Amino acid sequence: MNFDELGLSEDLLKGIKEMGFEKPSPVQEKAIPVLLSDKTDLVALAQTGTGKTAGFGLPLLELTDPDVREVQSVILSPTRELANQIAEDLKKFAKYKKGIKVLSVYGGASISGQIKDLRRGVNVVVATPGRLKDLIERGVANLRNIDRVVLDEADEMLNMGFKQELDYILSGTPEEKSTWLFSATMPKEIERIAKNYMNNPLKITVGSQNEGAKNVVHKYFLVRHPQRFSALKRIVDSEPNIFGLIFCRTKRDTQEIADKLIGDGYSVDALHGDLSQQQRDRVMDKFRDRKIQLLCATDVAARGIDVDDVTHVINYELPDEIESYTHRSGRTGRAGKSGESLVIVTDREAFKIRRIEKIIQKKFERSEVPKGEEVIKQRILSLVEQVKSTEINEEEFGKIAEDVLSQFEDMDKEQVIKLFVSKEFNKFLAYYQNSNELESRGGRDSGRGRDRGRDRGDRGRDRGRGDRGARNERGGRSDRSDRNSRGEGRRDRDTRNGDFKTFFINLGTEDGVDKGEFIDFVCSASDIKGKSIGQIRLNDRFSFFEVEKESFNKVSDGMKGCTFDGRKIKIEPAKPRDRD
Ligand code: ADP
Ligand code: MG
Repeated sequence: MNFDELGLSEDLLKGIKEMGFEKPSPVQEKAIPVLLSDKTDLVALAQTGTGKTAGFGLPLLELTDPDVREVQSVILSPTRELANQIAEDLKKFAKYKKGIKVLSVYGGASISGQIKDLRRGVNVVVATPGRLKDLIERGVANLRNIDRVVLDEADEMLNMGFKQELDYILSGTPEEKSTWLFSATMPKEIERIAKNYMNNPLKITVGSQNEGAKNVVHKYFLVRHPQRFSALKRIVDSEPNIFGLIFCRTKRDTQEIADKLIGDGYSVDALHGDLSQQQRDRVMDKFRDRKIQLLCATDVAARGIDVDDVTHVINYELPDEIESYTHRSGRTGRAGKSGESLVIVTDREAFKIRRIEKIIQKKFERSEVPKGEEVIKQRILSLVEQVKSTEINEEEFGKIAEDVLSQFEDMDKEQVIKLFVSKEFNKFLAYYQNSNELESRGGRDSGRGRDRGRDRGDRGRDRGRGDRGARNERGGRSDRSDRNSRGEGRRDRDTRNGDFKTFFINLGTEDGVDKGEFIDFVCSASDIKGKSIGQIRLNDRFSFFEVEKESFNKVSDGMKGCTFDGRKIKIEPAKPRDRD
């Protein structure tokens, strides 16, 4: 089918063509004609990236009369980024349909400018629910005459806690309007909205829903931030036959984790956007041919990967966009095979697990990071399996059989087995004896970590003390993970002694973070330790936090361009008067 068969006018077709759209996507093909011809309510289920914006945007623009200078359509979107994206797309579609005014309004930006823009008269408003409610309450946005409401990514809006706002907004719209709901999943709450606010909606589904594959088991491992890497190794160690993908959030993390694993003797390579196309192809070939067991990848780089028989997807870090989790876990459990999707989280991120559960409509199992002895057992059993399935070359073996067998003459079967297994076993034992100790430290500490989290007062200093204590417990022994804490946190600090600088950041309690999550976010984005952070003052939409001078550059560089739940984070040194 072509765009010109859908019933769109010339001016819109021209706009789409200029955007490089050649053929309508399935959701566009299904939605556009019915939305154009019929005054109908619609529920459309389609994954992200299927072209939903044009699916509702084109008919919406077609039905908009630019000469009527009032709001005719409202599009609700979960985040500011998406709202802006939609508004930009609509403006491009409508480039040749003159006179249509599209405006996006969202929280976190000055409301007075948005009020002015609204008063100038617009036809289409794209809004985040919180801000639109605010504008309605102030009497600036009037929805009593609108023709249609679009709920884009409705499931995500509910996940983000906009239920009340949606109810408020929808209940103030006219009976006769149309409601078009777009969602990747169909949780109960969406069904409730469809029931309460929609009239006999037409339902279309495109492809399979954003639902986790049936044969994928989801598990999470709760760890302390510094334990992430050792937990990863444990998990991998306990699965000798793993053929898996490891997902990190950034290109830098991806390369770093791959390098560290390679350094520790694992069969792994990295895939991310800093590699040339040629390099990426080479890595993919190696993975497909199973020359490597593990592939460390960013979400973007992994987009096109369709390798069968992936046994595990490991979320070393959860994605910024919770939705990406579905794409990640969908890399395993393909073609009827079973697979596991594993998530390593700190307790500050654990709330994200619940959000994901809502999206995939499946429960996670909580798992413990395998203990050293379990890993050893797994590996030995796997070795025994391999030994048992080894083919014996009778003819060649015959030539040495007598010499070899005579060596074991006075031993019984059990002893021979013990000897052969011990040869490997002792290696593992030596390796894990070190890390056993490491792990038990982690166990004790993570309990303490939670306590510290509750005491929101002066975390930075406490953490330093905890690490010192732990080091003493181990008699000053140094091992890999000890490196994280060595040389840091020794100094007792006074946060007012000028060793700190204060940053402003556009992240606050309205983003759903508490101090613990805030610290985790800053630490993982800028690769610093929690103890480098001093006092934190969380406000609703922005915050101030102190950073040790030595980490100042790491924070300002590391956080440049990073996002929180899809929103761009802005950070800058606080002006002196902002401090108090
Ligand atoms: P969704 O809202 O379903 O996640 P979008 O509407 O954002 O998806 O579209 C995803 C991407 O595909 C965008 O970059 C968009 O420009 C592009 N796109 C959408 N429809 C088409 C089409 N018919 N042909 C080519 N590209 C398209
Ligand atoms: Mg979209």
